Amino acid sequence: MNETMNAAFLPGNSTVEMRTVPVPTPGHGEVLLRVKASTICGSDIRCIYHEHLGKGPEGYQGVIAGHEPCGQIVAEGPGCRRFKTGDRVIVYHISGCGVCNDCRRGYMISCTSEKYRRAYGWQRDGGMAEYMIAEEKDLIALPDELSFADGAQVACGFGTVYEGLEKIGIDGNHAVLITGLGPVGLATGALCRKLGANKIIGIDVVPERMKIALDMGLCDTVLQSGPDNVEEVKKLTGGYGVERAVDCSAHYAARATAIRATRKWGRIVFIGEGGKVEINPSPDMIHDQKTVYGSWVTSTWLMEELVERLVRWNLHPADIITHRFPLANAADAYALMASGKCGKVAVCQDEELV
Ligand SMILES: [Zn+2]
Ligand SMILES: [Zn+2]
Repeated sequence: MNETMNAAFLPGNSTVEMRTVPVPTPGHGEVLLRVKASTICGSDIRCIYHEHLGKGPEGYQGVIAGHEPCGQIVAEGPGCRRFKTGDRVIVYHISGCGVCNDCRRGYMISCTSEKYRRAYGWQRDGGMAEYMIAEEKDLIALPDELSFADGAQVACGFGTVYEGLEKIGIDGNHAVLITGLGPVGLATGALCRKLGANKIIGIDVVPERMKIALDMGLCDTVLQSGPDNVEEVKKLTGGYGVERAVDCSAHYAARATAIRATRKWGRIVFIGEGGKVEINPSPDMIHDQKTVYGSWVTSTWLMEELVERLVRWNLHPADIITHRFPLANAADAYALMASGKCGKVAVCQDEELV
């Protein structure tokens, strides 16, 4: 193995800086991964790429970028208990302390340790490099039936959606509204199909995304975002509205639409991050007995359950990847993702770069 590798950093002015850095050595309880696929998230663009906006858990510390990595173990440090060289693994993207209450529930995303909580690609080196170090406790086994690009999609996008959908419950009785058809919205459509939803309505503003949702069969109907959306959704659902709604947009108007286009006793989950919403609690929620859930990423155990389900459903998250780039062209990958004119964008190596 070489002693140095290429790695991508995000200086915060809508550019990518490639640097040559040493290939790291895994310490106790850590493994070294050959990164095979590393996808770009909306939060990378929102909080890091354009400018370093994030504070606390979203504060970027100038590390190697990329929090959605998937790869193969090429070396292990002392003290590893389960995973070994050759294993194919997904990295849960936040490394928690492991001993606070949130970590013990598997939700390392909300680890309460200021000292030990470090997210890959934010506060510790991430997946936009030839190799990366991960802690063994953060790994999820990648089944043989799934590709590395499938796995990278599980790391943040599909896992986050699955968690939100489990909270509100989706079945064959439900019409579902998805506001925002970026990669997370597309993943919502794909998972709702497998969970049995028989009518899926999407709303977005970007024509490329609306077309992807329809072409891939992830939505039955796609509406152009606008002031008539609530009425349009009701018209498509017997005049009542959907039973379930998922906001993936974080847009204030779309969030209000998600709530208002949901029928009595319905459930809404907010997944999209940032922004605001304004509603009138009595007519919009209280009188109609509605429940709004918030959902932040997922747990390690639910991620394990999801990869098992993906195999059972023959669902390949990599299908929503519309563009793949080699690491050397990471700048083009981030620029495309920032434009929004795409599905998911991945930086890939070896067999995943096809
Ligand atoms: Zn992400
Ligand atoms: Zn913790």
